[in-house]
Amino acid sequence: MIIAANWKMNLTQKQAVSLINSIANNLNTKNNILIFPSFTLIETVKKLTSQKTIFVGAQDCSVNSSGAYTGEVSAEQVKDSGCNYVILGHSERRKYHNETDLQINKKAKLAIKSDLTPLICIGETLEQRKTNQTIKVIKAQLDEIYTEVDASRTIIAYEPVWAIGTGLTAKNEEIIEVHNYINDYFSGKVRILYGGSVNEQNSDEILALKNVSGVLVGGASLVAEKFIKIANFLQK
Ligand code: PEP
Repeated sequence: MIIAANWKMNLTQKQAVSLINSIANNLNTKNNILIFPSFTLIETVKKLTSQKTIFVGAQDCSVNSSGAYTGEVSAEQVKDSGCNYVILGHSERRKYHNETDLQINKKAKLAIKSDLTPLICIGETLEQRKTNQTIKVIKAQLDEIYTEVDASRTIIAYEPVWAIGTGLTAKNEEIIEVHNYINDYFSGKVRILYGGSVNEQNSDEILALKNVSGVLVGGASLVAEKFIKIANFLQK
């Protein structure tokens, strides 16, 4: 299983050291743990986890490979900072920075070229779910994002937009329907995580669902005891 923590724009160096030490000292699992801190915390997290089975990733990378793009960080720089992963297309990037599927496609190509594994987020809005467009939306996102991208070099996170940071988790049957669809779309060649208000109380049930290869956790990943409980999920 893959248990991924999206720390978003949180934590100072001191807070990050304290959180990562608590997590690292209490992990008792063979699951793959991926931590996505802010760019400024990558080196700190890397240093504290270098002996352990915790991998580090960035929360985004530039759509350009290098050059005059002030404030941007390239895929090559992300890799060079010690990361193996990068989140792409998170709904907060789409919402606040108007990121499109075409840009996510370009970023995914650059990430793979730099030997990073992109964790690509897709998902429908509440309006789209209410009007029965979920599968259509997912298909359109996959069609564009995966144009000339080898899915087996990526991980997908199905994150219904309405479930992120809201305390609303998708129902098991809703998760199963979308995960089955994505699994079939790629003939079983891609790992699919669920994300959206995963916490220490619902994680075991979600992780046991068919075609769920792990979870992407936001809020609950900032609380050591909650994240440790989620991460220590035992595979049967
Ligand atoms: C996320 O940021 O990807 C996420 C799923 O957040 P939360 O767990 O807080 O809903």
